[in-house]
This record gives sequence, structure tokens and C-alpha cells, in this order.
Amino acid sequence: MRVPDSTELADAVLSGEIAWPINPARPYDAPRICPICERRMVVKISPMAWEACCSRHGLLRSEWLER
Ligand SMILES: [Zn+2]
Repeated sequence: MRVPDSTELADAVLSGEIAWPINPARPYDAPRICPICERRMVVKISPMAWEACCSRHGLLRSEWLER
């Protein structure tokens, strides 16, 4: 997976600027659509975590949200 240099997505979500569409009942379901540009993201899922990558806005990992 090619990861862009942008951290725009992670910055926006972690600062609370964007509400990340997580379903609290299924926190390990990764969102598939970038909330900034609505492009489909490349999503990689492992049993306890996921990582989603927008080709424009960068990477977001579930572990970054668990704080
Ligand atoms: Zn995007």
C-alpha cells in the first residue's frame, strides 16, 4: 500500500475537527470512506486493529483513536 505524506486525515480526526464515523458496537470495523473527500480508502484489517488510508489525506490507525 502506498501511503501519502499527508497527515491531514489523522490531524483532523485526532484534533476532533472531524467526527470519525465509528460504530461503538463494532469498534474494529474500519470506515471505508474518507470523511474529508469521500473517496474510498484502502483498509487493512487485523483482528484487533485496522488501518485506513486515503490516497489524498493519509493514514489513520485504530490504535491512534484509543486514547
Ligand atoms: Zn481523503
